[in-house]
Amino acid sequence: MRFRKSLFLLCFLLFCSWNTKNVSLFPYNPKCGDTLKITITKTSPSKKFIAEFNKKEYHFYPIRQQNQCCIIPLSCKFLPGKHKINLSRLHKKEKKLLWSKELEILPGIFRRIDLKLRRKKSRLLSLPKKDPQEKKFQFYLKSKITFPLWQGKFIRPVKGRITDGYGTYRTINKTIPWNQHKGVDFGAPKGTPVYASNKGIVVLAKAFSLQGKLVLLDHGEGIQTVYMHLSSTLVQPGEMVKKGKMIGRVGSTGLSTGAHLHWGLYINGITVNPLTWIKYEY
Ligand SMILES: [Zn+2]
Repeated sequence: MRFRKSLFLLCFLLFCSWNTKNVSLFPYNPKCGDTLKITITKTSPSKKFIAEFNKKEYHFYPIRQQNQCCIIPLSCKFLPGKHKINLSRLHKKEKKLLWSKELEILPGIFRRIDLKLRRKKSRLLSLPKKDPQEKKFQFYLKSKITFPLWQGKFIRPVKGRITDGYGTYRTINKTIPWNQHKGVDFGAPKGTPVYASNKGIVVLAKAFSLQGKLVLLDHGEGIQTVYMHLSSTLVQPGEMVKKGKMIGRVGSTGLSTGAHLHWGLYINGITVNPLTWIKYEY
């Protein structure tokens, strides 16, 4: 009888420790360009969970009030449609499926623009593509900090109006098809201060041919922000910067049509719309 009671109690405790009501998704109707966040509430920080989505695995990290969180990037190039999310618990190298949901990813609404580039800048388009790895900006898009450094919402990195949003389809001089826009452009006069949008460690503060002078910050957990086309950089690699610290000045270096700041946000090397990180807390 005592054994039965103990078994009942154990089953009851196991049921209480896992409840699908403890899983939430944000946003509920995600679209291409969004950051998808899965939160598990009322759980121990020592429990290990894993989310599987679009043939990739994403791990969770603990946040306040016994919550764990997982961030999935949906780039502007993500294929809209139905995708399944599986949530499992990892225990002694075994994966136990706890929750599954089919999610409809909506298409993003991205505009089309043509950029007018002066002949001098057009030469940048025909640069040799076989640069050594370390000369490529993409080489540095790997966060080395395994915990979140950022605190609260991100801030606008510069005073100025938005001149181009995330995901815009672009052509150059009406003839050359170019990449979809990987960030947000803020128009501002040359020399306008540029601020760190959140706490992070400086990964790069140098010039690249297309991106111009740039600062790349690592905010931990795979989150990085980039500030491109600067006229000057005011920080050094390895330096820890607080949210709001001045890190450079607006310019028009690299492939740029005029003084502006290109601000991008990467999640494990994949771009998302950075403006959602200003609006919501991740
Ligand atoms: Zn841009």
